[in-house]
Amino acid sequence: MAKKPARTPAKKTRAEDLNLNNIVSQQFDRAARFVKLPEGLLEQIKVCNNVYQVQFPVKIGDRYVIFQGWRAEHSHHRKPLKGGIRYSRMVNQDEIMALAALMTYKCAIANVPFGGSKGGIRLRPREYAPEQLERITRRFTAELIAKNFIGPGINVPAPDYGTGEREMAWIADTYDAFHPGQLDNMACVTGKPVSQGGIRGRKEATGRGIVFALREVFRQPAVLKKIRLSGSLEGKRVAVQGFGNVGYHVAKILHDEDGARIVAIGEWDGTVSNPEGLDVNALQEHRVRTGSIRDFPGAKTLPHPGDSLEVPCDVLIPAALENQITTANMRRVRCRLLAEAANGPTTPLAEEYLRRRGVLILPDIYLNAGGVTVSYFEWTKNISHMRYGRLEKRLDEVQRTTLVRSTEDLVKRQFPDSVRQNLLRGIDEEDLVNSGLEETMITAFHEIWEIRERIRDVRDMRTAAYVSAIQKVGAAYLELGVFP
Ligand code: NAD
Repeated sequence: MAKKPARTPAKKTRAEDLNLNNIVSQQFDRAARFVKLPEGLLEQIKVCNNVYQVQFPVKIGDRYVIFQGWRAEHSHHRKPLKGGIRYSRMVNQDEIMALAALMTYKCAIANVPFGGSKGGIRLRPREYAPEQLERITRRFTAELIAKNFIGPGINVPAPDYGTGEREMAWIADTYDAFHPGQLDNMACVTGKPVSQGGIRGRKEATGRGIVFALREVFRQPAVLKKIRLSGSLEGKRVAVQGFGNVGYHVAKILHDEDGARIVAIGEWDGTVSNPEGLDVNALQEHRVRTGSIRDFPGAKTLPHPGDSLEVPCDVLIPAALENQITTANMRRVRCRLLAEAANGPTTPLAEEYLRRRGVLILPDIYLNAGGVTVSYFEWTKNISHMRYGRLEKRLDEVQRTTLVRSTEDLVKRQFPDSVRQNLLRGIDEEDLVNSGLEETMITAFHEIWEIRERIRDVRDMRTAAYVSAIQKVGAAYLELGVFP
């Protein structure tokens, strides 16, 4: 009997590395080739200086649960160090170290004078009652205090995935209780509620920073031509993955202020889509009322969270977690501009594929820097003990009133009421914060774009952003005299 032919072995696909630490390291190496620095300095900029790993017990119900947490300090070239605290079931040491490195580069790109850090606790917040989360947060803060991993001049956490103003208020209060009488205690953490030392505009800062960056892209005809887009953000189709702090605010601002068409929003339990556009405010009300975005009237509910990444759109905004756009779904991604609101949403292989297809990627280390930028404003507000705008608001209003009245006397006509009110209003804290944020995002965009245009072999925004970051961190180390 004839022998059965052996089956051709299945063609092996290139295994995809999903370890964020390896990915960040690769991205760094690709850019480091374009930066001239003394021997050893590049390595110092790349490595994570130290990591604190802690396990601590908290009483949950009638038993003790042991939680695992981390705080990584990537770089001490500037102090304090800065970076969020994340609560997620997927948190691990490698991820936290990678996110801390991204913070170093992000601060440098946004010209924020901090080193990079990140922290996290492995837990799923949905599984705990608020008072249990409070005990966990306070205990973790006590552990950070005990090892000098928190303090206004040492290391300053902020919100990240799974945490928000509430957790930051608990951290601030715990730190204050351990350091009675110290004036700068409030500056030990940012992203606090405004009533507890926070700053207006911080909650929406990451989302607003993303919008400022997108508006700047849409002001560059040469950039738009490369990706076959034109005009403004008005009417552009936008899909967002993640309807949390970052995703909600970016979708809301694009919808309310720019007239963009939000064609899809994805959450962990499904995606809602409508090619004509979703009413973001009504969707938020629906979520608050029902506990989910699913079954939003007038929209189609798709079953998978990943579906939001595959809806045809002009701008795709992943705003949930890392490794969302991979070799598994990259062929189904249909956008011209990929705006990385989340940290590490695109794997290198998927990035290479999308770039070859002409998609412009605005990288995480630039695009989501709005959060840390406004955190910097909050920190300076806390150490100066004065609200922005307090000194100049009245003076500003008097000067504006004089100018408006003189103009009206001169032309013998009055401005329409709405214009008049706008002209007379003095600037307040939120105006100043947003102005500083816009300036930061626009300046950083042009610094990165200039590098991309000037260095022939740097063809993507991510490598250009890393080059910008490495140059600045390198210069700071040299200033310190660490590498003579
Ligand atoms: P968040 O916890 O407020 O929101 C995340 C949202 O994503 C949640 O609503 C969650 O249910 C949803 N989600 C989880 N898995 C999902 C999935 N598979 N598909 C769709 N949605 C999913 O967190 P955030 O603060 O908005 O952070 C989001 C991302 O932005 C993270 O990568 C974070 O590191 C990054 N980031 C946040 C800030 C900030 O200021 N909060 C700053 C810079 C970067």
